[in-house]
Amino acid sequence: MSRTHIVGAGLAGLAAAVSLVRAGRAVTLHEAGGRAGGRCRSYLDARLDCLIDNGNHLLLSGNRSAMRYLADIEAVDALVGPASACFPFLDVRTGRRWSLRPNAGRLPWWLLRSERRVPGTRVRNYLSGLRFAVAGPDRTVTDCVGDRGVLFERFWEPLAVAALNTPAESGASCLLWPVLRETFARGAAACRPRIARFGLSHAFVDPALELLGRRGAAVRFGRRLRRIACAGPSATRLHFGSESVAVREGESVILAVPPAAAAALVPSLTVPRESNAIVNAHFRLSEPARLPADTPFLGLIGGTAQWLFVRGDVASITVSAAGALAAEPAETIAGKTWNDVATALDLGRDLPPYRVVKERRATFAQTPGEVRRRPKTRCGLANVYLAGDWIDTGLPATIEGAIRSGHMAARAVAGE
Ligand SMILES: Cc1cc2nc3c(=O)[nH]c(=O)nc-3n(C[C@H](O)[C@H](O)[C@H](O)COP(=O)(O)OP(=O)(O)OC[C@H]3O[C@@H](n4cnc5c(N)ncnc54)[C@H](O)[C@@H]3O)c2cc1C
Repeated sequence: MSRTHIVGAGLAGLAAAVSLVRAGRAVTLHEAGGRAGGRCRSYLDARLDCLIDNGNHLLLSGNRSAMRYLADIEAVDALVGPASACFPFLDVRTGRRWSLRPNAGRLPWWLLRSERRVPGTRVRNYLSGLRFAVAGPDRTVTDCVGDRGVLFERFWEPLAVAALNTPAESGASCLLWPVLRETFARGAAACRPRIARFGLSHAFVDPALELLGRRGAAVRFGRRLRRIACAGPSATRLHFGSESVAVREGESVILAVPPAAAAALVPSLTVPRESNAIVNAHFRLSEPARLPADTPFLGLIGGTAQWLFVRGDVASITVSAAGALAAEPAETIAGKTWNDVATALDLGRDLPPYRVVKERRATFAQTPGEVRRRPKTRCGLANVYLAGDWIDTGLPATIEGAIRSGHMAARAVAGE
């Protein structure tokens, strides 16, 4: 049986591997690190004495590739979230709270109801969102919806920064439109928020590794691909430092590594070069906390933190497009963001034990210029395919984009 060598065990590599083994194909997964999951993983934090995720990850029920992947690895129940589509927000400056509550069905009548939409907005304000559908590839989010007003501050900006990890004034509008089309435009069933019940590895990684083991795939850790040897247009050998592996006639390679690593391995490749940071801070509370209405997260407007997630006695915040914040010391970040957490949960100002995680290259900078540099699945070598959240999936660099890129690469390998 012809084997596929998958390099990189992040979600793109895992999704490709799962797809191929389910189709009865032989797979070897080579990962540079000591564990799988890449940018989407959990680990035991010694200072907090509990399991934390490297970053809080939010999905929507309309993320169809992610949901298919979870079904494939039998982990659909590993995500939790409210039964309805509900997005609670708090303005930390004023204490005002509200929830966005899209309705069932495609006709968005929730926008007609003032208690379901953003307070202080009118129905006609939302029409600006239609400009995303017709905007050209050079347009930014603010080119489409402007850069001021209540709807911008309370909806478009938080949505754009969360989805694109890029400020709204430079974020590519062409990546936000598919998000709107695949989730909000399909009604409540497609935009129910979802988070990992017991952590990212429990949901996305461990069940995938178990399935791969059951289906006979070989998973090799500590294998950093350093060079691809070629004969003519095809890869013939993968060099991992002291070891190397032959790529035989009929075998394929999927490179599911970050863009800089792929460009070093395939020098002719054009890839996005700029990246943006995401900062997370995790606080161990003295007792379990709950957010109003029992939603697991809260959008924060007007503070430093943008999203708050609460799981038992751990409160975690996320700041996307966080280049400036990431340059500050961890204790400054913890102090600033704890103010927002304490306001949201009505807690005292004394800082509890915390862990600040700075992912400086969390995703590529999703500007129109960098989006143009995304390559397709094929990379110019006959038997080498690309996967990763930075591939041209048409989607932002998210779990959904990473998994879809893995599925695309698996289909290309299978000749579909
Ligand atoms: C802090 C943070 C918060 C995020 N929040 C969200 C969110 O809320 N919602 C959402 O949908 N997405 C979110 N994302 C994005 C999401 O995590 C990524 O899009 C996704 O995990 C990318 O997966 P990937 O497989 O493309 O890349 P990676 O996870 O980077 O995987 C690449 C793998 O390749 C390995 N590798 C690299 N070089 C080599 C080599 N030479 N040889 C062998 N292996 C190699 C790496 O070790 C890694 O395991 C967030 C990301 C971060 C960092």
